Amino acid sequence: MKWQAENNGVKPPESKDLSMISFVMPITRNTKQDNAAAVDWPSERWAQTRLSGEIFSQTIVREIVTDLMSRGILAVSPDVTSMFNKKRYPNVGWASPWSHRHIAYAAGLGTFGMQDFLITEKGCAHRLGSFVVNLKLVPNRKRPEDIHAYCLHYQGRKCLKCATRCPVGAITAENAHDKEACYQKVAKSLKYCNKNYHLFIYGCGLCATGVPCESGIPKPLQTD
Ligand code: SF4
Ligand code: SF4
Repeated sequence: MKWQAENNGVKPPESKDLSMISFVMPITRNTKQDNAAAVDWPSERWAQTRLSGEIFSQTIVREIVTDLMSRGILAVSPDVTSMFNKKRYPNVGWASPWSHRHIAYAAGLGTFGMQDFLITEKGCAHRLGSFVVNLKLVPNRKRPEDIHAYCLHYQGRKCLKCATRCPVGAITAENAHDKEACYQKVAKSLKYCNKNYHLFIYGCGLCATGVPCESGIPKPLQTD
């Protein structure tokens, strides 16, 4: 926000005057069904959704930020600025310095599953977006204290369906989600998607489809 304010020749706002806006875009039923039927590589619809979905979410956020700015309200979406870059961190491997997922958790939109996807009221097969705005807004969701409140396994119930869906064993009861093993598999999917779908995109999402948390909070954990 400081960067945005300085670029626009105004004083950076104090953090107490900022709010985060986070939104969930559920993936369509047909795309989820196709990916749920896949066993090794993402389905074509899933790959296409990753490619077009990213373009769509960045476009919609740019439009909203531009509209707010034209009304004199400072706003910024860090992942569409030139400052944004993924990094390899010593303890967690590849990660993003701006995480739509963590912001969505902070906003009360969901909690994390064994596969690290965010399980929302519309499930974990989705795309997320977020941005910062110089407005004081009232939250419209309550964040569960337990960051795994909607995951069956973490709540002591039988599941681990995501682990059985992973083609490289990157999810285990002992170590949860091995980000590095996952990254290695997902990186290889670029070649597969290019060769089979003529799409220059990587992806997987097998552990987010064909699982009890795919399209909603699993029934036994729903509170209303
Ligand atoms: S499939 Fe089961 S164990 Fe895996 S994240 Fe979803 S609810 Fe949790
Ligand atoms: S996204 Fe990662 S953890 Fe999930 S199924 Fe694919 S390789 Fe496994």
